[in-house]
Amino acid sequence: MSTAAQGDGALRGALIEACRELQRQGLTHGTSGNVSVRRDADSFFVSPTGMPYAALEPEDVPLMRLDGRWFGRRRPSSEWRFHRDILGARPEAGAIVHAHSRYATALACTGRGIPAFHYMVAVAGGPDIRCAAYHTFGTQALSDAALDALRDRRACLLAHHGIIALGADLAAALALAGEVENLAAQYVAALAIGGVDTLDAREMERVLEKFRSYGCQDAQDPDLIHGGSALPPR
Ligand code: 13P
Ligand code: ZN
Repeated sequence: MSTAAQGDGALRGALIEACRELQRQGLTHGTSGNVSVRRDADSFFVSPTGMPYAALEPEDVPLMRLDGRWFGRRRPSSEWRFHRDILGARPEAGAIVHAHSRYATALACTGRGIPAFHYMVAVAGGPDIRCAAYHTFGTQALSDAALDALRDRRACLLAHHGIIALGADLAAALALAGEVENLAAQYVAALAIGGVDTLDAREMERVLEKFRSYGCQDAQDPDLIHGGSALPPR
């Protein structure tokens, strides 16, 4: 269901579930990380600052407007600026996940992004996943750097901090955060072995093109012939 079609209670509940899922998947620990979901053109729900996810009730989830005004009984995440700025600048984003997942954060602590060492890097929308320069958490400078690193991408790392992933909805943003963490773990392992090389720009273009129809039932493949929905006799 599109977020526009969901009521406020359902959106707040879905945001809490997404926070708990981040923890279940081991993508974040304690109260680190935060999640937002768009409510409409001018406002979004964002996780409250510093609250254990297990304790959250729908009324604990504040609403924020793009003008910086917030409503509710709990203060919004200290990272409300980047949630506001990304949702304001990226109309295709319906939800944002920020996490301090282990391997992506480890890479980001070396100032590295994720290059095209594996074709799946294209899942974030381009031939690499950038790492935004370090700025103190919660600052406008961090938000500006994140928005820049997210140019033509759906995910980025944050130096000495963690990751951000965007999606059309909460499920898509969560899934992308998990993919980026998995890629980071594979890249860290490959770096440990040594001698990692990267796919060239033309190959990544091909992969990005294939991703446009990946998983679609009507994807074009001239060598694949559908024999009908019923199984043939043995
Ligand atoms: P909040 O609890 O304020 O969302 O902060 C967690 C965090 O990850 C800051 O970057
Ligand atoms: Zn953080």
